[in-house]
Amino acid sequence: MRILCPACKYTMKILTSKQISNELRELFADCESPACGARAVMHVSLSHYTRPPESNFQSMLENLVKGLSKEEKKKLLAS
Ligand SMILES: [Zn+2]
Repeated sequence: MRILCPACKYTMKILTSKQISNELRELFADCESPACGARAVMHVSLSHYTRPPESNFQSMLENLVKGLSKEEKKKLLAS
């Protein structure tokens, strides 16, 4: 992962990181420009899924099937 210094746009070196939650990680980074020397805490967070996790898909299918009537379930299995 390449991070640019918000102050001078030079590359930053990630020194360490800490998991804050399932969807948020905190990075501690130093600007590599000797003239700048900024040190920053940055966040990497989940924005959204472009493909949902398999577990979400499974539970969505289970809920769909649970909501079907007996007749609809028979039709589904027959097709
Ligand atoms: Zn900088």
